[in-house]
Amino acid sequence: MSTTLANIQTTSTVCSFCGTGCGIEITVDHGKIVKVAGDKKSPVSHGETCVKGSQAWAYIQSQDRLTHPLIRRNGELQKASWDEALDLIQSVAWRYKTGFGGDAFGCFSSSRSTNELNFVAQKFMRQVLGSNNIDSCNRT
Ligand code: SF4
Repeated sequence: MSTTLANIQTTSTVCSFCGTGCGIEITVDHGKIVKVAGDKKSPVSHGETCVKGSQAWAYIQSQDRLTHPLIRRNGELQKASWDEALDLIQSVAWRYKTGFGGDAFGCFSSSRSTNELNFVAQKFMRQVLGSNNIDSCNRT
């Protein structure tokens, strides 16, 4: 749900920092986040958040945030397109798979991901890369 007042808009959503799923309200002013607070309507958190959920959003607007892929060329990281980056990942992964087999790969999935994303990660590891080396912090 979303409410709008002039250029200020508040949207209810779910915090994605961990798998708890606390409800949060994000307030945006002229396209920039100015506040994140607990959503009292959330059946999970009833308006509460941890410090990360309410305070750790500043990076979103950081000037230092990486917004495009980088590829190291001649020892220097250079801006690249997504197609270039994905082609490079594919060629290197293929080289390792053919040279060393699936066990050359490992994957550590995340409790910040949904069950569906974690399912896709293990399928990709097993079916595409041929590795059972997959784990996640959400099993603890
Ligand atoms: S507010 Fe804290 S506990 Fe709640 S989902 Fe976000 S990171 Fe997890």
